[in-house]
Amino acid sequence: MIVTRFAPSPTGYLHIGGLRTALFSYLYARANGGKFLLRIEDTDLKRNSQEAAKAIEEAFKWCNLDYDGQIVYQSSRFDLYKQYVQKLLDEGKAYKCYMSKDELDELRAQQEARKERPRYDNRYRDFTGTPPAGIEPVIRIKSPLSGTIEFNDGIKGEIKFNAADILDDFIIARSDGTPTYNFTVVIDDALMGVTDVIRGDDHLSNTPKQIVLYNALGFKIPKFYHVAMINGADGSKLSKRHGATDVMEYKRMGYLPQALLNFLVRLGWSHGDDEIFSMEEMKRYFDPNHISKSASTFNQTKLEWLNAHYIKNSDDDELAIQLVEFGVDIRSHAKKHLIAQQYKQRAKTLVEMAEGIKVLLNRPSCYDEKAYKKFVTESSLSLLTKFADTLSANLNAKECEKRTMEFLDANGAKLKDLAQPLRVAITGGSVSPSIFEICEILGSDEVKTRISNLIKKGL
Ligand code: GLU
Repeated sequence: MIVTRFAPSPTGYLHIGGLRTALFSYLYARANGGKFLLRIEDTDLKRNSQEAAKAIEEAFKWCNLDYDGQIVYQSSRFDLYKQYVQKLLDEGKAYKCYMSKDELDELRAQQEARKERPRYDNRYRDFTGTPPAGIEPVIRIKSPLSGTIEFNDGIKGEIKFNAADILDDFIIARSDGTPTYNFTVVIDDALMGVTDVIRGDDHLSNTPKQIVLYNALGFKIPKFYHVAMINGADGSKLSKRHGATDVMEYKRMGYLPQALLNFLVRLGWSHGDDEIFSMEEMKRYFDPNHISKSASTFNQTKLEWLNAHYIKNSDDDELAIQLVEFGVDIRSHAKKHLIAQQYKQRAKTLVEMAEGIKVLLNRPSCYDEKAYKKFVTESSLSLLTKFADTLSANLNAKECEKRTMEFLDANGAKLKDLAQPLRVAITGGSVSPSIFEICEILGSDEVKTRISNLIKKGL
């Protein structure tokens, strides 16, 4: 059975790149009847892991991603890590190192002066003497001194590291007894039965260390997939500078989770030329072996395009519910469907959609200066006055169109002579859906009131 996991360190929010990693792991597990696990890597106790877990749960819930079982907190597993550290010590695969900070600094300085890579010199690897007093030792693993560490990465292919070049006897437990990242990750992935590790390629350099630990502990090594980074449009690593990095910020900006997930799945993965993927399709087609080797670029325009697509194809009632958070409640409006239909065609985000509807449903308190200057003239005001008189009963859009056309014919005017001044009267500006639909939504009395307000204001 395929078991994947998402293992964020607590930051207090879910990063957009993290969501992509989570999505890839989720899809692979779900598509294969496997398990998708969530683990909070909170061994650094200074950071608040509850808050982080809450933020992740909130983002997962919004995206409708579920995980199996309970969240695993590394901070609650210190005893377990200790047992395995002890096991490695007992088996002579790890050892206590009493090097002081001053000694380490001195070694570093010497190595740097010789232009060598700073590394521990294994001085306590075979130490049998009396430990120096007053020093709490760190625990180091005995790394292979020669040979290669090789693995077949699902994305990058065959990877080979020369042990002597990249490894030293790295620390697995600090002097205060806390285990290090590479150690806990191996213990947890192994004990949680993780078969496939999908993570950012910023972790690639950790993998040989983790393989050393898998081997020392006698655990089965999972399959690794190191996903290339997401870059901003300027080619540098995605950061706050490029816009939002917190997943929930996208919710606040009016993006739909389907759009965000569809956008993220295409960052580094493709299926032919397809751009639109439902969750079902993602599950059907996703294969981590087809993730691209190269970095992908965060393309804001594409995200907006996808969001517009998903808004357009959303159910009206669903949209009505979501719009409440953006300050517009059309759930019990008699013309709910017509409003939704008109505004979902043109909105890139729910924020835009809500703004458009707000403008329509509220009488304008002021008018756009440019539109006013351009469209409100003596003749347009007189046309609007006459038009208001023809609006007797509430009309549906079709009837309104018919009556308007007759009115225009009778007055020797064209639609453009009426439409823009009418928009200014109704919305205060010059952009809106078709005036006929607007008249149906607002009803004749409201349209007349708004026309009369404009006329009162005059030129
Ligand atoms: N906790 C690590 C991070 O947030 C991820 C560890 C892993 O995926 O192996 O970067």
